[in-house]
Amino acid sequence: MAQPPRDTQVRRRILVADDEPHIRRVLETLLDSSGFDVDMVCDGAEALQRLQDASLRYDLVLTDLMMPERDGLDVLSGLAELEHRRGLPVVVLTAKGQDADRARAVALGAADFLTKPFSPKKLLGRILQILGDET
Ligand SMILES: [Mg+2]
Repeated sequence: MAQPPRDTQVRRRILVADDEPHIRRVLETLLDSSGFDVDMVCDGAEALQRLQDASLRYDLVLTDLMMPERDGLDVLSGLAELEHRRGLPVVVLTAKGQDADRARAVALGAADFLTKPFSPKKLLGRILQILGDET
């Protein structure tokens, strides 16, 4: 699917899943102030519910790896089964020392990953690059 031209008023929508309230606040502030619409959930189970709903439009998923109910790997593997989400990029946020999970995330198709604590500027740069907005 072609990306809309940058001069349109279509705001890109990002689904964010993280169980830590302060991370959600940081991400919401960062993404909202950068011109994205943000849909925020606390767990991978909620993220998968949203993704299964074909009426919801998303341009990118940003997911934590460690979450209580369904984790980031569950999001990736569940997403792979959704025909209507084919090609939707997923960026994974990991804590330090989760190298095995990082490798699994990449194997499951993660577009990119960042280690917490992440630099907001770096994260935004990666997102823009993945969405083809890099200047
Ligand atoms: Mg977590």
